[in-house]
Amino acid sequence: MLKAVLEIKDKLMSRTFPLERIRNIGIIAHIDAGKTTATEMILYHAGRTYKIGSVDAGTAVMDWMEQERERGITISSAATTCQWREHCINIIDTPGHVDFTAEVERSLRVLDGGVVIFDGVAGVEAQSEAVWRQADKYGVARICFINKMDRTGADFHHTVTMIKERLQARALPVQVPVGSGQLFRGIIDLVENRVIPFPIDSDPASSEVGETSLAKHHQALIEEVAELDEETMLLYLDGQDISVSQLKAAIRRLTISNRIVPVLCGSALRDRGIQLLLDAVVDYLPSPLDVLPASATNPETGEEILCLASDDEPFSALAFKTVSDPFMGRLVYLRVYSGSVRAGVRVLNPTRDKKERLGKLYIMHADRREEVDETETGSIVASLGLKTTSTGDTLCEPARPVLFETIRFAEPVLSMAVEPKTKVDQAKLDDSLAKLAMEDPTFRIYHDKETGQTLISGMGELHLEVLMERMFREYGVRVNAGKPQVAYKETITIAVESEGKFVRQSGGKGQYGHVWLRIEPGKRGSGFEFRDQIRSGAIPKEFVSSIEAGAKTALQSGGLAGCPVMDVKVTVYDGSFHEVDSSELAFRAAAFMAVRDGIDKAKPIILEPIMIVEITTPNQFLGDVIGDLNSRRAHIEGIDSRADFSAVRCLVPLAEIFGFAGDLRSLSQGRASHTMRFHSYEELPQNLAGLIGTRIGRGR
Ligand code: GDP
Repeated sequence: MLKAVLEIKDKLMSRTFPLERIRNIGIIAHIDAGKTTATEMILYHAGRTYKIGSVDAGTAVMDWMEQERERGITISSAATTCQWREHCINIIDTPGHVDFTAEVERSLRVLDGGVVIFDGVAGVEAQSEAVWRQADKYGVARICFINKMDRTGADFHHTVTMIKERLQARALPVQVPVGSGQLFRGIIDLVENRVIPFPIDSDPASSEVGETSLAKHHQALIEEVAELDEETMLLYLDGQDISVSQLKAAIRRLTISNRIVPVLCGSALRDRGIQLLLDAVVDYLPSPLDVLPASATNPETGEEILCLASDDEPFSALAFKTVSDPFMGRLVYLRVYSGSVRAGVRVLNPTRDKKERLGKLYIMHADRREEVDETETGSIVASLGLKTTSTGDTLCEPARPVLFETIRFAEPVLSMAVEPKTKVDQAKLDDSLAKLAMEDPTFRIYHDKETGQTLISGMGELHLEVLMERMFREYGVRVNAGKPQVAYKETITIAVESEGKFVRQSGGKGQYGHVWLRIEPGKRGSGFEFRDQIRSGAIPKEFVSSIEAGAKTALQSGGLAGCPVMDVKVTVYDGSFHEVDSSELAFRAAAFMAVRDGIDKAKPIILEPIMIVEITTPNQFLGDVIGDLNSRRAHIEGIDSRADFSAVRCLVPLAEIFGFAGDLRSLSQGRASHTMRFHSYEELPQNLAGLIGTRIGRGR
């Protein structure tokens, strides 16, 4: 007994950071809002094992950034570990470009909290809105940092209003800037009731803020917090003073429960407000103990298992990113949800039903990678040597199999034929494509047997361009690419019941498979769902997976235009079997026939990918931009006009958006810009369906 207690104590003592001192966060931002700069500044302050002494902060930061860039180390790594106020902060990379929604989804899955960066001039942009919604879906607690307060036109209050209105978030400013643009000369910390002044060139001593104004702001913050937090309300009504630590604790409770989003401000480029931001990460964002335990299922019984955040629990982790590092090899990044594990041990991958050896383990720091023997609950590590584990897979202790929900990725919407510029590069091309596809689940490769072509598909033109650029840069392969082709899909609109019977009784061994399936439209984006509702042994259990496989194969091409059929729910509820003649093959064929027949009767339609596009244009070109969009079947969702610029948000079919970048450039003299990402699949208008399909129309 004593030994066991001592062992536990030993274990607890051996943690480098107690769990409550761990923060797994992502920095989320619209492209150009300053994510890279802010991350670099954070790592400058918190990422180093030694500091640059008393060198003037500005130049030291720049020197450090240059060095880091030259060495090309882990600022861009999938996860970086740093330390602040005796807390361990793991920064999990989220991509700057929303074309890569898969990346955003996968990083949001494994982080506990997020820092959302906004450009103080541009405010809330479309991309931030998209990521915000995804963060809502995963219940990620957030704080906001309004960056670029040093830029002319930066408007803190307007951005806060936009956060409230466009993101429908209860934004709670815990700071306000003193001045903005060139006169950005301080930050008022409303929680601690103090001003942090910055000397500015024009007036070194200009950051005075009246005492009364300070007290007023502080009081207003307390009142707003009291309105939401009962503990604070009781103290307030009692007429008691609310201390800074009580106020911080209340803001922490409200942030973690997703009831408020604290808002901070600063300038990453000028290193203003970054240390306060780090304080806020520690003070307000959740530790692994503050979030709900990760929910998994028992892969055999399907029963729910909670993986509690504790080193004493059995080990469980989710692989959230796979990278092929040119020097190290294949690195799989893991988030450990429960227990601890040693490098080199055999773990179970229940997603693939395989055991494999966990190779070396690394923690990535800003300026080095550290090999560790063991990794604990809450940590983020990169593992070298896993062969079959990929993004979205679970790893766990073989004695307690648990399976986390895999990370769902959107289906690619665009494909394009590629061939190497020189024939000798074919093998290199295949190799580089395979490696890139391993890293990115929304990037797929197909070899068309009929034409002999290699087709690549992804989430948009830019996505594919970036991947081709990487093929050249990282693998030295130059490719010729064909015209991009839209990936149309089909779906059904009504529920049907369908029978499939596969019976062969001539000569040799007979075949017998018979199923009744219910085929229903699924929710948009749900993909393919399969259910087994067979009662009283009408079909033995061993054939159910063949029925599922047969249904899946049948959905690979629909009857309207031969496109894959998506968002369909198939339930097997009845059928029959033959003691001798039934086989997996026969049930597969029966299900195939039932689904083929069923989707024909279920009023199929063709779906096309729709993109959400945001264009920022000087007002003088707004009319032309809208005219161009109207010719592309665009649905304009809103126009937000500010001073000289307008931001137009619209939904446009992917098929219509080709060449838009060039047209936008020429009609705006190169001054308008746009971002685009996949939004959803929607029904293709009937009059256009004829252009892509052969047999058209609802039903046949
Ligand atoms: P990312 O695309 O979100 O990673 O943005 P970057 O960090 O690359 O920044 C985009 C541009 O904005 C760069 O030119 C930065 O120098 C600039 N920038 C970033 N932060 C600030 C800031 O606080 N103030 C100003 N004036 N510029 C900034």
